Amino acid sequence: VNGFIYDFPSHDVTRDFFFNVGDSFGITKWGTVALLAGAAAIFLFTIVWKMSIWARGRDYPLPGFRDRRFFSVLKTVFIPKDFLREWYPGLMQLSYVWGFLLLFLCSAAVLVQEYISFLFFGYRFLTGYIYLLWTLASDVSYFLLLAGTALAVFRRKRLRPSRLDTTPQDMAAIVIVALAALSGLLVNALRIAVSDYPGFETWAPVSWLLSLPLALIPFETLMPVHFLAWWGHILSVCVLIAFAGMYKMGRFTAAGINVYCTQPLREDGSDTFAARLSSDSCKGAEFIDDFTWKQLMDLDACITCGRCQDSCPAYLSGLPLSPKTLIGELSRCMDEHNRFANGEPANGEIRDYVSSGELWTCTQCGACVECCPSGVDHVRKVMDMRSSLPARGKAPAELHAAWNNLADKGNRFGVDNSERGKWMSAKSMVPALAENSRAEYLFFAGCASSFDAEAKKSANAFLQLMKNADVSIGVLGMEEGCCGDFALRTGNEGLFRKLAIHNLRNFTRYGVKKIVTACPHGYNILRKEYRALALSLNDPEIRADYEVVHHTQLIASLVAEGKIKPVKSPTPVAMFSDPCFLGRYNKVYDEPRNALRAVPGLMLVDAVHSHEHAVCCGGPLSAYSSGGLKMGEYRAREVHQSGARIAVSACPNCKTMIREGLSEISVENIRTLDIAEFMLESSEG
Ligand code: SF4
Ligand code: SF4
Repeated sequence: VNGFIYDFPSHDVTRDFFFNVGDSFGITKWGTVALLAGAAAIFLFTIVWKMSIWARGRDYPLPGFRDRRFFSVLKTVFIPKDFLREWYPGLMQLSYVWGFLLLFLCSAAVLVQEYISFLFFGYRFLTGYIYLLWTLASDVSYFLLLAGTALAVFRRKRLRPSRLDTTPQDMAAIVIVALAALSGLLVNALRIAVSDYPGFETWAPVSWLLSLPLALIPFETLMPVHFLAWWGHILSVCVLIAFAGMYKMGRFTAAGINVYCTQPLREDGSDTFAARLSSDSCKGAEFIDDFTWKQLMDLDACITCGRCQDSCPAYLSGLPLSPKTLIGELSRCMDEHNRFANGEPANGEIRDYVSSGELWTCTQCGACVECCPSGVDHVRKVMDMRSSLPARGKAPAELHAAWNNLADKGNRFGVDNSERGKWMSAKSMVPALAENSRAEYLFFAGCASSFDAEAKKSANAFLQLMKNADVSIGVLGMEEGCCGDFALRTGNEGLFRKLAIHNLRNFTRYGVKKIVTACPHGYNILRKEYRALALSLNDPEIRADYEVVHHTQLIASLVAEGKIKPVKSPTPVAMFSDPCFLGRYNKVYDEPRNALRAVPGLMLVDAVHSHEHAVCCGGPLSAYSSGGLKMGEYRAREVHQSGARIAVSACPNCKTMIREGLSEISVENIRTLDIAEFMLESSEG
């Protein structure tokens, strides 16, 4: 005996795990193991079955074991995403996750002791202080699971957030967890009561409290109740394990695997949301098995939390798109395609499940992916689904018209391309590379700055700023072509390739080493898909060995170097509106703010949704979905609420959409300026 704990010899500070249910090595002990093994086999079978369905998808890189994926799973599971913004679901997740982890560890310790260490070596280690810690952890695990359950029930039955639909499956999962935890506590409380309340059992505080009223019930009544509760607990744990791979609980299991399989992205955003370019992917996803296996896994990994729905600009603006519903529809398509029952399975054609309205309302803003705790990628799925349509002539007529304009005239607006390059004013005029190919930077104007009146003003202000700062800069003028982002995002990869190759040939011919652009869409595609395309072509006349910066980054570095000197703010309060393709797509959040903070007398504010949570203005695709303007209105309302007098944009689309949105909601006292215009006004005092 190594001392006494609570007046008990330390080896007596333990419990008989088979107390009151049979002899040590009888049917009970092996029957319990058989039940647990059966439940584990069901769990494994369902996971393998699901994997066989995912495996029908197309190729996607298999995860390796040597990168940091394991830690990303741990981080995602144990540190709820956006815990501070989403504290209620975050608390619920923490309760469940830590509850399950402790329950698993405590149960594993019992199995190891009873079926390995005691069976083979006659040694029990759950005694003394180890037992006290074990019983505390076990009690806490039940408490956390019950707390998570209570939070879940209160949320679903009383708070009822609109993003949650409560189905019988959701409630069944809650009940199964609750039964396992409650029965565990009850067995413990009954055992404490019939064991005459040994002092060391106060280390299981919840069970101890539950046991106190049981003192009023006769011993002879408690013993059979304990027997029934013990078996009830074992059976409920078996049900929990068996169902962990299917229905709602299976989604949580799939989510863990999915996060592990999600490709880790670079922190500088240089591969975030990059399109998958290949001749194969031009075909897109017409049938469910046209998705990759990872995309199919996504469909099972959606835990239907609805975070994506609450972040989607289309949904928030009342348009017919909810990313959560979209994933649900695809999930149903996959399930029905792979179902054995009811005769023939469905053919898995996606258009039977996803409407054209949903498909074309998505702006590709990426807010849904950013907030998804399960690693679901909606953006790539929408692109793949769209990619299947051009070849079949199934895209909306307006898009076909825009593609025809792009193919024939080099811009989607249908303006004669001879107008391109005529946007520069006398004050901002810089030479074209055809006249001076030694300019340090190429300013890639893009279609908006070439043809849209408001974007032209921004581009002119930027060139004026550059001239004032003595930056050597040139343009392509007439030789520039559309960057192809619109074609790519609407699923017309063939057209994108044609447009991109035209520009890449010019970059290579002029030996362009640095490109600056005022359009986040152009910046993104020049940085990612142009590089991937140039690499795949392996043609010495088509290279993408240039550095590309967004104009906000160049302005910020010139401000830091003192080459742009703001002297007076045009307004006391301004708000910077994060463009999706600059922020979420490329992680550029600080540079524009740093430049603006250097303006004397300016208070810079943010919208309710900013940085990675910024709500999309609608972007260029909104022009092709009915009601697209509503997204601009939503963004304009946030500008209005911010108290700013100037909305500073860093994207031609944001500037237009916010301006039109403000006009729609009849707000006339807020100006919209591109950051270049704002900095030019500030430097001129
Ligand atoms: S896709 Fe992600 S964010 Fe959306 S409901 Fe599913 S798990 Fe939640
Ligand atoms: S990418 Fe943006 S618009 Fe499209 S579903 Fe996601 S949140 Fe909605």
